[in-house]
Amino acid sequence: MAQNIITEEKVIEEVKKAVAETLSGDAGAIQPDNSLIKDLGAESLDFLDINYRIEQAFGIKMARHFILEHIEEMFGEGTAIDENGQLTEKAVQFLKARYGEAFPGFRANMDMDEVPSLFTIRTMAGGVMDILNTLPEKCPKCGGAWKSDDGVKVLCGSCSEPAAYTNGDDLIKEWLTRIQEEKKIC
Ligand SMILES: [Zn+2]
Repeated sequence: MAQNIITEEKVIEEVKKAVAETLSGDAGAIQPDNSLIKDLGAESLDFLDINYRIEQAFGIKMARHFILEHIEEMFGEGTAIDENGQLTEKAVQFLKARYGEAFPGFRANMDMDEVPSLFTIRTMAGGVMDILNTLPEKCPKCGGAWKSDDGVKVLCGSCSEPAAYTNGDDLIKEWLTRIQEEKKIC
């Protein structure tokens, strides 16, 4: 269910802040469609730091493994990345089914090392939003309604229990299972 407490705008703002703090840059100069690697100069290791800052801000757990690794784990070695280190047709089908137009750059035979350069502020924010949208309708502890004072952290308005979201890796596994059932990708 889509939560309506935290706006996409706010998420983009927080992602920009996390990126700016990690790269010692100016959040105001970052655009939503900037590629973290190509435009902002992030390196692979910076993603850990960026993810950590986002997790702390929202009280969520980002995926530790990218969707391609999950595909390999669920459907077997070589199903997402072939022996040349390139994306398979199946991987692209999953990525398109999952991300649609958000990642127009995915194509079969693409070198997997090119994939991280497709990440932008907006696609990162989309991933955060997906996790935030796993917020249960009501507080599981007392049945109270959620609230947020700063538009970032959500807690129960009655018992102050912090919101609990599905973690990023579990969410990817749920999608993959569902996409495969619905689309019959094999
Ligand atoms: Zn509660």
